[in-house]
Amino acid sequence: MARLAQTAGLSDVQSEILATVREFVDKEIIPHAQELEHGDTYPAEIVEGMKAMGLFGITIPEEYGGLGESLLTYALVVEEIARGWMSVSGVINTHFIVAHMIARHGTETQKRHFLPRMATGEVRGAFSMSEPGLGSDVAAISTKATRDEGSAAGGSGDYVVDGTKMWLTNGGTSTLVALLARTDEGADSPHRNLTTFLVEKPAGYGEVLPGLTIPGKIDKMGYKGVDTTEAVFDGFRIGADMVLGEAPGEGFSYMMDGIEVGRVNVSARACGIAIRAFELAIEYAQQRETFGKPIAQHQAISFKLAEMATKVEAAHLMMVNAARLKDSGARNDVEAGMAKLIASEYCAEVTQEAFRIHGGYGYSTEYEIERLMREAPFLLIGEGTSEIQKTVISKGLLKEYRLRG
Ligand SMILES: Cc1cc2nc3c(=O)[nH]c(=O)nc-3n(C[C@H](O)[C@H](O)[C@H](O)COP(=O)(O)OP(=O)(O)OC[C@H]3O[C@@H](n4cnc5c(N)ncnc54)[C@H](O)[C@@H]3O)c2cc1C
Repeated sequence: MARLAQTAGLSDVQSEILATVREFVDKEIIPHAQELEHGDTYPAEIVEGMKAMGLFGITIPEEYGGLGESLLTYALVVEEIARGWMSVSGVINTHFIVAHMIARHGTETQKRHFLPRMATGEVRGAFSMSEPGLGSDVAAISTKATRDEGSAAGGSGDYVVDGTKMWLTNGGTSTLVALLARTDEGADSPHRNLTTFLVEKPAGYGEVLPGLTIPGKIDKMGYKGVDTTEAVFDGFRIGADMVLGEAPGEGFSYMMDGIEVGRVNVSARACGIAIRAFELAIEYAQQRETFGKPIAQHQAISFKLAEMATKVEAAHLMMVNAARLKDSGARNDVEAGMAKLIASEYCAEVTQEAFRIHGGYGYSTEYEIERLMREAPFLLIGEGTSEIQKTVISKGLLKEYRLRG
């Protein structure tokens, strides 16, 4: 992409990382994505390649073995990867969120225990908030962690977890799940009764630990290859030292911090898919002829291309802005919500237009656009639906612009 989605002001290191990732995407992801996706096959070799490039540790601080790069670098890497195949970005996204939460909120012992092995990709993260009965309404979580005062672990009682979690991306392949559960230890707000636990487990399916079962993969319309699962906790015991930050009742705010960076990442994914849809459409439009000329020379099609490119550009700029804001240390809830909203909605629109430009061939599974058509809708849902983004944005604005005097 010579012209679109360029980012001003990148350092040499950032530019070098992006060039390496782009080459990897063009050589190792795009040529294999169709076959792997249609077979719902886990991209094991691609994941090994990403480990070798250090991508699992890209944002982990250098003192814990990572590359110590910014959210912006990560988001631009994700944009490149999603341009190749969204599922591959799904493999690293939950990992990245969990690493971010541990680096920001973990105790020193937790950081030393997890981050160096996360940086190499030996430990792989998933995060679990959603349940069969809730996704948007996080405060209504029903999975319960009750302190067993009878047994001692590091001086305090273990927790016993009961409940069913839903939609864990990387639920089967991960070895560390950041789990949000209700602890009800006396706070008067529902949000302050939620705690994040760091659940170490083996990869795989079935009863992976006493009291923790990961049933098989959920069959999805797109976003294939990457595993999405339930997690069933039934009398599962976990030590109090595995409470993130050893701070019961802080789980909701820790998760929301993770979700804020996650929303930038979902925006980046949407940008990547939209860029790819545009690339496919502009190429096809110059090859396919109707009424004696390439369809790109019909104004109706060239105007579609102009609108698609404008949406790609706008989404990219908002995503970059949200990432830079978070990197500056500022809260970016409104900007991340705006970026996620516009990027995911534009991605769905651009993909739909690219599909139309392909005519009947767009409906054939031989064409890449068919896959993008099944992937784009997930971005309207994951990390909070568009309605939830509008709720976050409007709340932030009403606070900022409240009437005075
Ligand atoms: C493939 C996939 C992977 C996922 N991975 C993960 C993961 O790794 N970890 C995880 O925790 N979750 C994950 N999720 C869950 C995802 O975050 C939720 O699906 C999402 O937050 C929406 O929740 P819900 O499905 O329960 O929809 P609901 O909350 O039931 O919403 C249904 C509809 O009602 C609307 N709605 C809800 N409340 C309001 C309101 N107050 N005002 C207006 N409209 C409203 C929503 O916008 C939506 O249109 C994943 C989901 C999918 C499909």
